[in-house]
Amino acid sequence: MTKHIARKRFGQNFLIDQQVIADIVNAVAPAREACVVEIGPGLGALTDPLLKRLDRLHVVEIDRDIVARLKQRYSPDKLIIHEGDALTFDFAALGQSHLHIVGNLPYNISTPLLFHLTRFASQVRDMHFMLQKEVVERMVAEPGTSDFGRLSVMLQYRYVMDWLLDVPPESFEPAPKVNSAVVRLIPRPAEELTAKNEEKFASLVSAAFSQRRKMLRNNLKGILEDSLFDQLEIARTARAEELSVSDYLRIANALG
Ligand code: SAM
Repeated sequence: MTKHIARKRFGQNFLIDQQVIADIVNAVAPAREACVVEIGPGLGALTDPLLKRLDRLHVVEIDRDIVARLKQRYSPDKLIIHEGDALTFDFAALGQSHLHIVGNLPYNISTPLLFHLTRFASQVRDMHFMLQKEVVERMVAEPGTSDFGRLSVMLQYRYVMDWLLDVPPESFEPAPKVNSAVVRLIPRPAEELTAKNEEKFASLVSAAFSQRRKMLRNNLKGILEDSLFDQLEIARTARAEELSVSDYLRIANALG
């Protein structure tokens, strides 16, 4: 088979570090009959060792040339290939309720993909992703830090997250210009998801962080009256990054 030339537009940085590969697969630790979906299998760095532990594996891959290679290499009973864009893939259509989702994600789509995946959180058991380290920093950031933003609030609301591993550029071919990290996301149980209206909660958080340098009060003009700030005991001078996830929940739920 001819050598595959990595495509930048699909964020192709292939894992070559056997220790990192083993660490990711051991972190997923799926049961043989588990339903596992790998996003972006590429040349199979994770696909191969995952398949060794599984009866079958689902993959979602956008690159046609890679799909053709995968079809040649694996039997369709073992590897179920969903050719297409993970950003629009309907994970619910797999009809499973304890999905493991895993991937060395294309960095150019990681944030929208994380938001897309939150829609399927109730069908997910866990997710393990390789991401740009800077994105993981934002995901797990604490309130009051410059990394704390919309991604932190929305993901911390929905998941318990653990930073598992730092991964240097040399672990990939071609090497990316940035450092990477592996993170685990476990959906919170339904009883912890206390937003009365999740769409309103999401749009409140978007509005709050729309202009980071402004005071929250300015970003929420027309949404939150000054009197409600006082009622909820939130300083009128607060900035969006100073509030916690539960503060955002209190505001969203007070708005009705
Ligand atoms: N898993 C392989 C590895 O670790 O070596 C490849 C990882 S590479 C960083 C990202 C993979 O995601 C590539 O195979 C790429 O073609 C695929 N990809 C990029 N954009 C995608 C999309 N929107 N939907 C599905 N797959 C995508």
